[in-house]
Amino acid sequence: MPTHKINCTFCGSSNTLLLYKHKYHPYITQHGPIDFYKCKYCKSGFTYPLPTSTSLANLYASFCDGLNPNTKKMRLESSFDKWFNQCINNALNYSQKKYTSKDYFTWIDIGAGGGELSKLMSKKFPRSKGVAIDFHPRPKFLDDCKNLEWLQVDLNKKGFGSIFRSKFDLVFSITVIEHILIPNVFISDCLSIMKNTGTFYITAPAFGSLASRILKGRWSYLIFGEHINIPSKRGIILLMSQEANNKQFNKPIIFSRSIILPYPLVYYLKHFGLNNIANFFSEKICLSLPTGILEAGVCFKNEPLTSR
Ligand SMILES: [Zn+2]
Repeated sequence: MPTHKINCTFCGSSNTLLLYKHKYHPYITQHGPIDFYKCKYCKSGFTYPLPTSTSLANLYASFCDGLNPNTKKMRLESSFDKWFNQCINNALNYSQKKYTSKDYFTWIDIGAGGGELSKLMSKKFPRSKGVAIDFHPRPKFLDDCKNLEWLQVDLNKKGFGSIFRSKFDLVFSITVIEHILIPNVFISDCLSIMKNTGTFYITAPAFGSLASRILKGRWSYLIFGEHINIPSKRGIILLMSQEANNKQFNKPIIFSRSIILPYPLVYYLKHFGLNNIANFFSEKICLSLPTGILEAGVCFKNEPLTSR
């Protein structure tokens, strides 16, 4: 056990416990060793010491569009539109603005991955203007999205928000924060590009969720060296409250709650190696299982949009 204090990356508490020692990434088996801690105060999970930027660069260089090869292959074969649509609808609900296809507004997808959410936003709101950013170049999948700009950005670099000259109405970051080295710097940058009346919406695996507590080391979101910091519902509230406070927003509402992501049935079957059985089912059939995911963010009590 370490003799010096190891602080939680979400709430800053030094009341932490070493849960897993000298672990390696499940697919890129030379990536490690990793020590993973739990915060006894906010129940978040985090890696200490952090992987070096060289080892992370090597890890991501072996991936395609920011996803590890196994996940990427299964996602291509299954439709995740239902999940991304749920993210969009929930974010819009928090914003309290009833955007229609005729409205002009701006949005950004931070850590856009394969671009699935960006594409849905681009098509659903053709008069909106979107930006998608991630470590890798623009995926070909987004070629027909004319109202979408892609920027290749290092999301671990402090101050990435400063490259934008204007702020956004909606700021999305879907299952990205767990990949980030220093969560408070990332959240600070995300909030710096949100309008004062805007909405910030993230999803992330939830450490301390029922699934994570039951499955322990077999929880599928516990990916050593790739999912570096995994917030709990309490940890993300504490972190966002602190960063929203630093920005001096007017009466921000900070939210965090468990959500169920509707994964396609074939995804689960293939995850458990049941490929032959998966072939009998449509990719559109989704299962709603509590896998341990949270949504969180910052929003404001807004006046409804006037029709135009
Ligand atoms: Zn904590």
